[in-house]
Amino acid sequence: MKSENIAAISTALSASGVAVIRISGDSPLDIAEKMFTPIGSTGVKDFEPYKLYVGEICADGFTDFGMCVYFKGPKSFTGEDVVEFHCHGGVAITKGILKKILSLGARLATNGEFTKRAFMNGKLSLSSAEGLIDMINSESVSGVKAGYYLYREKLTDEINALQDIITDTIAQIDCDMDFPEEDLERSSTEAVTRDLKTVIDRIDALIKTYRTGRTLKNGVSVGIVGKPNTGKSSLLNALLSYEKAIVSDVAGTTRDIVEGNIEIKGVRFNFSDTAGIRESDDKIEALGVGLSKKILAESDLILFVLDGSDINEQDQVIYDLVKDKNLIVALNKTDKCSVKDDRADIYVSALKNENVEQLKDLIYDRTVGAGVDLNGDFLCEERHYDALIRAKEKLVSALNAVGVVTLDVLAIDVKDGWDALGEISGRTATEDIINNIFAKFCVGK
Ligand code: GDP
Repeated sequence: MKSENIAAISTALSASGVAVIRISGDSPLDIAEKMFTPIGSTGVKDFEPYKLYVGEICADGFTDFGMCVYFKGPKSFTGEDVVEFHCHGGVAITKGILKKILSLGARLATNGEFTKRAFMNGKLSLSSAEGLIDMINSESVSGVKAGYYLYREKLTDEINALQDIITDTIAQIDCDMDFPEEDLERSSTEAVTRDLKTVIDRIDALIKTYRTGRTLKNGVSVGIVGKPNTGKSSLLNALLSYEKAIVSDVAGTTRDIVEGNIEIKGVRFNFSDTAGIRESDDKIEALGVGLSKKILAESDLILFVLDGSDINEQDQVIYDLVKDKNLIVALNKTDKCSVKDDRADIYVSALKNENVEQLKDLIYDRTVGAGVDLNGDFLCEERHYDALIRAKEKLVSALNAVGVVTLDVLAIDVKDGWDALGEISGRTATEDIINNIFAKFCVGK
């Protein structure tokens, strides 16, 4: 089938050491020949694949000096012939080279079109493509690891293995329907039960990893609450190790949510410091209080700050609002008081930076979990989780129907379970699912 040449700048558009512009399609080498003059005697059409050649890149109105490499399909990222220009990483340089390529007949690639072609050509599964985008978008080590698990097809391998078991189950049922003798029916019923249980157990094992996997991918949101002046902004600064929140001793200074993030043991934590929750006529303060309540609802963890030198019934009002959440109570200002409080989980001084590292450890343990091995395999995509839940529902329904309905009726649920699993790898994904996934990519990937 004919495949149009598509092109895009594959690196970020900014001043940088090197940039890459990529062409994929039936004849990228024809385009390269018209705009690249190699140093040395090998002409562009005779380029050895996977080898970098140095030369002049003739762009739109200027020339750059760089390199050209040819990847011969199907051994290329997209599975098609691919040519890359490696040029100096300037905005005008890269745009000028791309413009030249487009003037020679290539079309500008759409978002994720290179990866979509790779998927269509069987170079990677749908979940692998999703892992790739997760890795690219990740700002934490754990996010990269979660994406890499998908990208390297580990989830797809497991899904394929489960689908293979189900395929055997369906074959067993078909065979039984063709030769419906008593003994055969009993033996196939046993086999079907055993196989369904195996697949359901393995789906359950995957589902169990989702909560942690999602945390590793998206990070953990921590809302800092407490009455005004307890030291929330100061504690946020101490956690972030830089001055971001406005610190002041006038009650109600932190009017807007101040956000910041850090990595603790490779996991990203997003902190939001809010205005104190209290009754107030002040409109901006009131808005801040509104936002606090939003954070209360949306945070994975609430960090409630008490001022050890000023504990009163207002704290109890806030405590009652948060006590049923995943909560850490930090009693602050230990440098100026030595009061103990039954509600406190940890005693800190934001001002003197005392116990702040221990607070970070506690935050990690209460969210990610103390014993979690980040090198394990985790489900991190909601789409995969949803498909597994649906697959499990169908298979459980089939299992419960064994011995109750005839095998051919039961086979309908089994087949639906197989289809739901196939959405993950892309074997049964609809055009809509596929398009949605690739729309999330940037142009050039
Ligand atoms: P917020 O309104 O809860 O965000 O409180 P701030 O962070 O603005 O702090 C209010 C006041 O308490 C400021 O004057 C801070 O310098 C002071 N403060 C914050 N943390 C501590 C601490 O650990 N010890 C002492 N002595 N003062 C602190």
